[in-house]
Amino acid sequence: MKVVLCAHVLEGLLEAARRNYPNEFFCLLGGEKTGDAYLAREIVYIPFRSGPTYAFFQPTDIPFDSSIIGSAHTHPGPALPSSADLHSFPYAGWVHVIISYPYTAENVRAYDAKGNEIPWAVTECGQ
Ligand SMILES: [Zn+2]
Repeated sequence: MKVVLCAHVLEGLLEAARRNYPNEFFCLLGGEKTGDAYLAREIVYIPFRSGPTYAFFQPTDIPFDSSIIGSAHTHPGPALPSSADLHSFPYAGWVHVIISYPYTAENVRAYDAKGNEIPWAVTECGQ
């Protein structure tokens, strides 16, 4: 199991992470599963509240949409799932990206819904 981010999705996530700093940023990832890889084709914005150490969303704000494959959010500290993250991951799909400060590609980690780290990659996608 792994996550593949379209290049424009990765760029959009890094940009949103920097724009929201020092607050955390949260979004969903839209895409599809191909083989054992989840391909993230788009950033899906839903309402969230956040501060420097948290980003909350309402599970009821997650659309009933089979194209939602997971989520992405930021951490000012290490890109390790918090206990709150482990609680919320299963509500928001199968793959979860955490981006830590200073929000470059080297600071991106991916996890499955149980919080196990999984590999990720980036690819160019046709629009
Ligand atoms: Zn978190």
